[in-house]
Amino acid sequence: MSFTQAIIENVLKLAEEKGAKKVSKVVVELGDLLLINPEQLGFCFQVLSCGTIAEGATLEIKFVKPHIECPICGKHHSYPVAICECGGIVKVEGGKDIIIKRVEMEV
Ligand SMILES: [Zn+2]
Repeated sequence: MSFTQAIIENVLKLAEEKGAKKVSKVVVELGDLLLINPEQLGFCFQVLSCGTIAEGATLEIKFVKPHIECPICGKHHSYPVAICECGGIVKVEGGKDIIIKRVEMEV
């Protein structure tokens, strides 16, 4: 899973910069629209971090909802729709990012 690979690479880079001996916890924010399975991500994280200083680290996943709004009537939609009831084309912001929020490590 390339998402996990990218997360681990960034975490390890950061840990290296800080001269950390061990990574104990990683908090990531995932956009809801990416439709990532958190269990699968957790499993991939365990497998890919094996043998690195992030091995055994806790992975905390927070899902971030996108902001979906109709520019015509201003209605907020809670799930992605292409067209609003009023006929306006809905604007979707966010919900597709992977952000590493916090990395806890032992220096
Ligand atoms: Zn509308």
